[in-house]
Amino acid sequence: MSETRGLYERYVMPTYRPGPVLVRGKGALAWDEEGKEYLDFAAGIAVCQLGHAHPAVTAALREQAEKLTHCSNLFVNEWQPRLAAKLSEIGGLGGKCFFANSGAEANECLIKLARKWGAPRGKFEVVAMEHSFHGRTLATLAATGQAKYRKDFGPDVPGFRHAAFNDLDAVRAAVTEKTAAILCEAVQGEGGVIPAAPGFLEGLRALCDEKGMLLFFDEVQCGVGRTGKWFGFQHYGAKPDAFSMAKGIANGFPMGAVSAAPAVSDVLTAGTHASTFGGNPLASAVALATLETIEREGLLENAAAMGARLADGLRRLAAEKGCIRDVRGLGLMRGAELDRPAAPVALALREAGLLCIPTGERVLRFLPPLVVSAAQIDRALETLAKVLPEG
Ligand SMILES: *Cc1c(COP(=O)(O)O)cnc(C)c1O
Repeated sequence: MSETRGLYERYVMPTYRPGPVLVRGKGALAWDEEGKEYLDFAAGIAVCQLGHAHPAVTAALREQAEKLTHCSNLFVNEWQPRLAAKLSEIGGLGGKCFFANSGAEANECLIKLARKWGAPRGKFEVVAMEHSFHGRTLATLAATGQAKYRKDFGPDVPGFRHAAFNDLDAVRAAVTEKTAAILCEAVQGEGGVIPAAPGFLEGLRALCDEKGMLLFFDEVQCGVGRTGKWFGFQHYGAKPDAFSMAKGIANGFPMGAVSAAPAVSDVLTAGTHASTFGGNPLASAVALATLETIEREGLLENAAAMGARLADGLRRLAAEKGCIRDVRGLGLMRGAELDRPAAPVALALREAGLLCIPTGERVLRFLPPLVVSAAQIDRALETLAKVLPEG
């Protein structure tokens, strides 16, 4: 066992079962402490959109660190308003943003927005989807539609109901006169890479308009270019009142954000919500550099093209190997559902030099950086062809 691994085992709480010690990366490649090279189709769980060590990210980090790292939200920094304007534009909601440090914290903002908006209307409940994932804080755990994450952490925060994803009748049945908002992922990530069915998000929009409720999308995993559009919901014909994002927004520098439509942009007023680190100059500068680089390098187009190449390859493999039951996803958020537990297969792939992330028991999830090349997609498919059992 290496010294690093030894210290990890001794001093870090065992909330994870991590793989090798990674020490270095470049684009879609990463290396562990023994020098072994991996094709990184985990990308920090859909975080490193520009891959590892992108010079634009490094430059933004270095320049801002030499200028002003943090000043709190008691002062305005140069980058946060510019980032907010950019998110308002690319998300298409045209209103204002709130900045936080993680996906869970961004979703907490949505939940508090729902409650504050709902308070004068006598509404506070949030209806979320079964098999959803919204985070590990107590409120976002209560929103998460998977009981396994809540086990032993009760009692649950009250005010959440769940309905079957992609089932409008079930959502309608879960809504009460106390429902303030519906919360939904455009593509469920931790639930097994399941895109919203055609018409579902549009149906949620119509239901919210009919009943006087807010519609929120959790774009933490499927947002920021991951699916080949800026945000997952943009593949559909429905706009939310607000949406959360985090993972990919600053290429690995911790940040979360909520973008809102004008009608709900001023619900959270001075003193009602805050975050010490949220949107600090360093995080905001890196996020803005990340978004501008995605644009400049045409990475939405690359994500769409490489995502299609990966999906085609996975479907070809599915035809050859009996062990793949289904291939799903959008852009560079792809899942292959197996006929067996995915974790041992992911382990064998890692041994063969390909990192991916199992999800929902039987699904291998592929989340390469948006800079991934056709040759790297083909190399991943070759590794899969070698390692996947005949089934
Ligand atoms: C990862 C994730 C979260 C939680 O984000 P953290 O940064 O880990 O708090 C919330 N929602 C979705 C859809 C996610 O994938």
